[in-house]
Amino acid sequence: MSNVIVLGAGMAGVSIALQLRKRGWSVVLVDRTEPGLETSYGNAGIIQSEAVEPYAMPRDIATLLSIAVGTSNAVHYRPLTLPQHLNSLLSYWWNSAPSRYRRISAAYATIIAQATYEHAPLIAEAGMEHLIRREGFRVLHRTQAAMDRGVATAERLKAEYGVAFKALSPVEFAAAEPSLTSTGAGAVHWLAPWTVSDPGALTAAYGQLFLRRGGTFVHGDAGTLRQTASGAWQVTTGDGSIEAEHAVVALGPWSTQILAPFGYHFPMVRKRGYHRHYRAPGTLNLPIMDEANSYVIAPMAKGLRITTGAELTGTEALPMPVQLRRAEEAASTILKLGAPVENRPWAGVRPCMPDMLPVIGRAPNHKGLWLHFGHGHQGFTLGPATGRMLAELMTGEKPYVNATPFRPERYS
Ligand SMILES: Cc1cc2nc3c(=O)[nH]c(=O)nc-3n(C[C@H](O)[C@H](O)[C@H](O)COP(=O)(O)OP(=O)(O)OC[C@H]3O[C@@H](n4cnc5c(N)ncnc54)[C@H](O)[C@@H]3O)c2cc1C
Repeated sequence: MSNVIVLGAGMAGVSIALQLRKRGWSVVLVDRTEPGLETSYGNAGIIQSEAVEPYAMPRDIATLLSIAVGTSNAVHYRPLTLPQHLNSLLSYWWNSAPSRYRRISAAYATIIAQATYEHAPLIAEAGMEHLIRREGFRVLHRTQAAMDRGVATAERLKAEYGVAFKALSPVEFAAAEPSLTSTGAGAVHWLAPWTVSDPGALTAAYGQLFLRRGGTFVHGDAGTLRQTASGAWQVTTGDGSIEAEHAVVALGPWSTQILAPFGYHFPMVRKRGYHRHYRAPGTLNLPIMDEANSYVIAPMAKGLRITTGAELTGTEALPMPVQLRRAEEAASTILKLGAPVENRPWAGVRPCMPDMLPVIGRAPNHKGLWLHFGHGHQGFTLGPATGRMLAELMTGEKPYVNATPFRPERYS
């Protein structure tokens, strides 16, 4: 019998699997597909060490109105599916009140601060340096008022958390990115984040590293998870039934549905995002976030990748890439986008918790069941950092970062 079955081979799953293997545990990683093919494949590829404050729910009337009438490109919703999001959204709203948000951000910043340190050895050992740039990314501001607001926020984050940035004039921005045909009022260049030209490949390479370190990967359905009479955890896989003393749920947006039969009803704000690649004639040196139009355009292995903001929709709803169409239009005003690479856009879901913090720790009512999900907008960034925290909790070590704000009991 293995020590542990890790369910889910996205960035969250491969990270905890690696950490436990490093501690000498016998680990079986289970996924229905291959490592790094879902959300950890489709993101913008930014290891966001600047994201010390998580995405709060907007509370000002102007932003809420623009979402309600459908003019915001940051959030799009389908009215008929809103009732299924209601409880999670109310909790998200409550947690986004300024005093709570300050407390939540203080906790969030502690794990964001570890992100690049925990990725660094994995990138090196996985031999993936060629996918990484350590030069940050830039936020385009189209008007002077927006640029002034952007710089003021950056100054505040620098003062409070030490986040490094540089304000670029339109001329400096144009020099840095010669393919741009317009540079608006300039950009805020976040200097510390790292960017990855193929996030799925990095996740898969961490999966390969896990195998080289003696881990086992098998195909299987996490929906078959059950606890045996002796208390062991059992899953049906392509190699038959496997058992372990512990199980970790690291299934990203699918985590809550797998946990429901065990009596856990975690609320989740499921924010769908889309991406598509383009055969642009010129490329970009670093990703750009277009603040006014809520998309990121990033140089990737397959071309320039546009990723969109949040769509609140039904779990199995057909794609409706309104935000992607708007993003394409907006991107075409700053560079030559070229033809799309794929016929259809990719879609995936950010697994966001209403209090914006991931769920890390032991499941409250089951011995040997551990949780590692809900990383929201920054799961690609955070997987290795929270993976270490969870491994330390599982092995009885003192967590290197205070784990209390992330404990699952807060949703009991
Ligand atoms: C458009 C977009 C842009 C983003 N940009 C960024 C960014 O720039 N930086 C950043 O840090 N984050 C970003 N994110 C967020 C980030 O991608 C996610 O938080 C992160 O990938 C979640 O990782 P995960 O391992 O929890 O989930 P996933 O990567 O989705 O992994 C879950 C795994 O579970 C498996 N699985 C599901 N159900 C079953 C089952 N029944 N049986 C077996 N296996 C199963 C899946 O196959 C999958 O491999 C973005 C997200 C989106 C959508």
